[in-house]
Amino acid sequence: MDSGPTLTPREKLEAWLRYYDDLNLGAFYTDRRTMAKRPSTRAAEISTAAIPVMRRPMAGVTQPKNAPPVSVLPVVNAASLFEVLDHVEGDTLERIRGDLGECTRCRLHEQRNKIVFGQGNPRAELVFVGEGPGHDEDVQGLAFVGRAGKLLTQMIEAMGLTREQVYICNVVKCRPPENRKPEDDEVATCSPYLFRQLDVIAPKAIVCLGLTAAQALLKTKDSISRFRGEWFDYRGTKLLATYHPAYLLRNPNAKGEVWKDLQKVMAHLGLQPKKASR
Ligand code: SF4
Repeated sequence: MDSGPTLTPREKLEAWLRYYDDLNLGAFYTDRRTMAKRPSTRAAEISTAAIPVMRRPMAGVTQPKNAPPVSVLPVVNAASLFEVLDHVEGDTLERIRGDLGECTRCRLHEQRNKIVFGQGNPRAELVFVGEGPGHDEDVQGLAFVGRAGKLLTQMIEAMGLTREQVYICNVVKCRPPENRKPEDDEVATCSPYLFRQLDVIAPKAIVCLGLTAAQALLKTKDSISRFRGEWFDYRGTKLLATYHPAYLLRNPNAKGEVWKDLQKVMAHLGLQPKKASR
């Protein structure tokens, strides 16, 4: 399998700096004093101590003997990145998509056909978040358009909504090969764009479809049975996790549990179930 061009340490460093620039995190590695001058109170709460600094030399970079540890790049942990993203002012879905570009930030770009950014109402009250694109999504560049997508459409319509009224996206935006689960580093690399999407849309409720989405947003490694069907807080928005439609295709007996979960969401949104047509 072609693993793509081998980057020199300098090219890797430049790629990382571009990535941080894309996320408006340049202030952290260029001049932290500018952050202190920002008027936002949240900015003042972010201490530099919350931003661990990588003190290992990058692979392939020769260090002088007895050299002191060198701060090569700041590595913003998930919690602090979460905070920082509050400061992406005037963000829009178009801008986030533009920042992604023809993304090569993780290995999932190597075999993808199309980036699946997400689609639907940019002011949706309800957002569904899945794991990642499958074959059909990769071909079409649209989220949830395969068999599992058709089932999701039925679930949405049963709630009295249409796909156009909600927003549908995934944690990772490129198809994992063989539909495998995305690796932790792939989730960590791609999920900041999901966080930004959710911040821009500002829905009333988020439904995580499956374990990967729930773990990424709730920052947990618990199994889905520990939190499925319960309300959680995601940065002030109610979040509920349920089974992925692909799981329901394999385990149709679980549809009843999912319907109970969706009824909780409907109650929160003040929705009436769609009346069965005669
Ligand atoms: S999965 Fe996300 S981070 Fe990885 S290449 Fe695709 S868009 Fe970029």
